[in-house]
Amino acid sequence: MTNTAETLDEAGAWFDANWSADLPLGQWWDRLGRSGWGFPAWPAAWFGRGLSNAAARAVIGERLRRGVFGPPSGIATFLAAPTILAHGTEAQKERYLPGIATGRDVWCQLFSEPGAGSDMASLQTRAERDGDEWIISGQKVWTSGAQYARYGILIARTDPGVPKHKGLTYFLIDMHQPGVEVRPLREMTGDSGFNEVFFTDARVHDRDRLDGIGEGWRVAMTTLANERDPSNPGLGAGGGSLIGSPDLSLTVAAYRRRQASDTDAFSYSLGGGISTVLEGLVRSFGRGDDPVARQRLMAIKTMHETQRWTAERAKASARAGAQPGPETSTLKLMGTRMSRAIRDLGFSVMGPHGMLIGDDAPVDGLFHKYALFVQAGSIAGGSDEVQHNIIGERALGLPREPDDSRDRPFRELRVGTQRPPS
Ligand SMILES: Cc1cc2nc3c(=O)[nH]c(=O)nc-3n(C[C@H](O)[C@H](O)[C@H](O)COP(=O)(O)OP(=O)(O)OC[C@H]3O[C@@H](n4cnc5c(N)ncnc54)[C@H](O)[C@@H]3O)c2cc1C
Repeated sequence: MTNTAETLDEAGAWFDANWSADLPLGQWWDRLGRSGWGFPAWPAAWFGRGLSNAAARAVIGERLRRGVFGPPSGIATFLAAPTILAHGTEAQKERYLPGIATGRDVWCQLFSEPGAGSDMASLQTRAERDGDEWIISGQKVWTSGAQYARYGILIARTDPGVPKHKGLTYFLIDMHQPGVEVRPLREMTGDSGFNEVFFTDARVHDRDRLDGIGEGWRVAMTTLANERDPSNPGLGAGGGSLIGSPDLSLTVAAYRRRQASDTDAFSYSLGGGISTVLEGLVRSFGRGDDPVARQRLMAIKTMHETQRWTAERAKASARAGAQPGPETSTLKLMGTRMSRAIRDLGFSVMGPHGMLIGDDAPVDGLFHKYALFVQAGSIAGGSDEVQHNIIGERALGLPREPDDSRDRPFRELRVGTQRPPS
């Protein structure tokens, strides 16, 4: 028997002995998180089993085959956790990872600002030292799930006297405190997924600084590389999204029913099981035998497989312990291209029905919402153009984009609302 087969037997036995859809969601996530089978690619000491991505995926497959509900998924698990695992002290891991792995704590990502999106290094939110604490002032925007978040991963400027990439520091901030104001924004889907967040003398203890003072850019690169990686083990296939705030006292069965009518659930099921959802849509409009529709469906399936294969190769070739690199930009571009192809095929088979919105539209109107949201994939986590720049400069070794702001002290730059004295 191979090691993988033994691991699968062990995981299967654990699922059989522990899983029940009648458990309260909070209890199931707690049990699954502590067992290490929820995030099998995480280190064994920290809610994982230390498996390779490929072996972890086999365990996830085993879980899905048994119909066992997955772990929580969201900014907490796919951005905060890998960044804390890579850069955190043991005390920080002890303090934050239990709440993440067991779905107790929702997190948000406080990077983008009105004057700093693609050029994130131009951010203006300040962190000023005050004894053992830091005082945070400024504004973030497009902060997904901030209205539900208990904690946030935050980058702020600690030294405006050095070049823009050098004066940044990364913090783990408590969102439930005076001085943090969250204002939801309305998207064209009608939902309010993201927010503006205002900091007015909010506080972070120095023990919640992640890595060194002035090291924020390097730490943020770990977060962003994980954001662009569709094989990120923190994505928690087949589980619940923690972009919102699930009711942990509901039984898993009740939560699942509620989630099935959710747009996110539809997007996730497309991501994980294109063959069933999209194929079902094509068939339901009588286009299952149409050679053009079938051809486009095959192209999407091929993209999906290529993306998975590339992700596996990228991980397999990475040195043990190495951080994900610019290859994740290629994966992100593949993902956005695939989502657009799904949108276009869906609309083409639906014809005029594609113009309908609301519960009585095809697939309960969820495809329409999905299609409206697809544009976001080419912007969130770094726009497509920015991914092309990264691939050009860091993977292909092309000359860097000219940027005369790179070496000058930040306070001398004209960025966002900052106007340096002339
Ligand atoms: C659904 C969604 C969720 C998000 N969630 C979060 C979140 O939780 N937390 C968070 O911090 N942020 C979040 N964001 C923000 C996201 O990271 C930014 O929108 C993104 O980085 C782009 O920044 P921007 O919107 O300021 O656009 P800009 O940077 O102003 O870009 C405008 C346009 O210029 C192009 N451009 C800019 N610079 C270059 C360049 N150097 N070369 C070529 N083209 C360029 C861009 O490609 C784009 O087309 C989210 C965004 C979306 C859409």
